[in-house]
Amino acid sequence: MRPSILNPLFADVTALPGVGPKLAALIARAAGPRVVDLLLTPPISMIDRSARPDIADARLGELVTLDVTVDRHHPAPKGRRLPYKVVCSDATGFVTLVFFHAREDYLRKVLPEGERRLVSGRIEDFNGALQITHPDHIADPDRPEDMPLHEPVYPLTAGLTANVMRKAAANALARAPSLPEWQEPNWLKARDWPSWNAALLAVHGPTAREDLGLLTPARQRLAYDELLAGQLALSLIRKARAKTAGRAVRGDGRLVARAMAAMPFRLTGGQRDALKEIAADMSAPERMVRLVQGDVGSGKTIVAFLAMLTAVEAGGQAALMAPTEILARQHHESLQPLADAAGVRLDVLTGRDKGAGRRDKLARLKAGETDILFGTHAVFQEDIAFRDLALAVIDEQHRFGVRQRLSLTQKGPRPDLLVMTATPIPRTLALTSYGDMDVSQITEKPAGRKPVETRAAPLERLSAVVDGVARAAARGEQAYWVCPLVEESDVIDLTAAEDRFDGLKAVMGDKVGLVHGRMSGAEKDAVMERFHRGEIAVLIATTVIEVGVNAPNATIIIIEHAERFGLAQLHQLRGRVGRGDKPSSCVLLYKAPLGETAKARLNVLRRTEDGFLIAEEDLRLRGAGDALGSAQSGFPQFRLADAGVHGELLAAARDDARLILERDPDLKDPRGQALRVLLYLFSRDEAVRLLSAG
Ligand code: ADP
Ligand code: MG
Repeated sequence: MRPSILNPLFADVTALPGVGPKLAALIARAAGPRVVDLLLTPPISMIDRSARPDIADARLGELVTLDVTVDRHHPAPKGRRLPYKVVCSDATGFVTLVFFHAREDYLRKVLPEGERRLVSGRIEDFNGALQITHPDHIADPDRPEDMPLHEPVYPLTAGLTANVMRKAAANALARAPSLPEWQEPNWLKARDWPSWNAALLAVHGPTAREDLGLLTPARQRLAYDELLAGQLALSLIRKARAKTAGRAVRGDGRLVARAMAAMPFRLTGGQRDALKEIAADMSAPERMVRLVQGDVGSGKTIVAFLAMLTAVEAGGQAALMAPTEILARQHHESLQPLADAAGVRLDVLTGRDKGAGRRDKLARLKAGETDILFGTHAVFQEDIAFRDLALAVIDEQHRFGVRQRLSLTQKGPRPDLLVMTATPIPRTLALTSYGDMDVSQITEKPAGRKPVETRAAPLERLSAVVDGVARAAARGEQAYWVCPLVEESDVIDLTAAEDRFDGLKAVMGDKVGLVHGRMSGAEKDAVMERFHRGEIAVLIATTVIEVGVNAPNATIIIIEHAERFGLAQLHQLRGRVGRGDKPSSCVLLYKAPLGETAKARLNVLRRTEDGFLIAEEDLRLRGAGDALGSAQSGFPQFRLADAGVHGELLAAARDDARLILERDPDLKDPRGQALRVLLYLFSRDEAVRLLSAG
């Protein structure tokens, strides 16, 4: 249970004054749904009202604070849509304050004629006269404290104004309880770091540009808190897992040999090494938790399948969980020939299986008549009974959270666990994201792959690209055409995909297919099958095809609005082609003009196909302030720490976490109790649950 001292922070943002459901939705998008999310969202810039120029020295277009005398009110003429004006002056010149839809009595109260006022806002030139439209602040010079000199500016989203967000953040800060210190006092002193509360106030109350930096004592302290919470959580998970006994699953190699004999290719060295590591883990009495990381197209599926055959050789069953139904079915179908050769029985279970059909499948599974089951994540969350599940495989694990991974590992008798991901792990992040697993890497791709020729083109070239695709289709080539999701929304931009579908159909007739997330499973299958069989030449798709789909004959991929995708996602999408031995190409259609970061992203893709390089670049570009990539890349998201800047802190946090757990394995002593609060603060609840009640 979360300590009650944190309750005010884990309330919904609607608990803050002036925040209703509508605003809450916007704040949730910009920062998060709970009060604590506001605290953990640092300002990205600040407004400085400390400049006090004379009117004559004020620079056009800049935010200034003027010390002026109010000369005269010019109320808006009745019945005409003109603004209310107030003329002010100092010894050096005049400035007009402009108000639309203003209430005269209010303006006369805050701006009495003949008196001095501080007025802050953006100064502009209007027909040769200086003016400020709707000043941000008006204050009495005798009470300058009424006007904040410095204001933080937070990340915003459409519809959310800076002022509203600032107020919400300030109110969140006011609710921050004073928490017990979880950091070592000597360490804080040596670093000259403030307490948690003081650090929050400092980070949220910048008074100079420097205060926004990532290396201020306050920011470092908060970053370290976040990193320590992460490292502690991983260490706890690691420890809990080390304790879990498993069983020795030892195959005799007979099924694997039959499948290998039927394979149309030889395993690469990387695949063989990964298999060796997996077999060693499985045959050991401890439970295996291993991650296989291999770039898109490196051939992880066959590695998983051979490991599953080993489990079957040992008399057990195996299951593979895929993130999408398309992928679950694709795995089932593509591995069927090898399964036939080996003489093992496969089945596939997804949300679509209902009624008697589903009951039959479950019965066969329970009776041990199915050896290997493929399914979607939704299916595995329900209670499926195996006769004897010896190995569970999670494909494309970056699609699932640590939480889901844990839920699987904590259920029932514990099978060996193999997770597969294409998300390359930059060295700086490997520890933070996968510290709880052993890792095998497949660094080479099967021989004979040709590089994917990657080009970027503005959307204006659309019709030329359509013509090119139509010509390629006429030559018998196959293409994917990817339409993006609407920004900031999970809703699929069906119109875009359907429009493109209609457009291409007009050119190419029924050689065009459409697949998207709103279609029923059966509909999706039918389309994918026609694509696999070559009846469809161009497959218009939303990002449902991003993950894992394998159609080696497809050689072209067009990605529309490529600027809306993160680097890692573009790399995944491009990985759908270049899977066979034919040369492939990728066209990144973008909407001009491109921002700097978007331009850099597309350039990285044109330069390289190396997933590791792309991941490092992704990290670097996101460090430069791009938020889009992080949400989509599958990397763990830090809110206060920055893997690029705080690397040294990360190493320290790792050592710290180890020491802490050596001294107080159950986090029971006073510092341990405070550290539990820290874990909850950063939503590492799953790790606290592994501790005995304290
Ligand atoms: P990913 O690692 O992205 O999941 P897949 O497992 O889907 O990649 O494999 C991509 C393609 O490469 C498939 O068509 C697969 O049959 C093929 N493949 C896998 N291993 C080899 C190999 N050793 N030699 C040649 N082709 C291979
Ligand atoms: Mg795959």
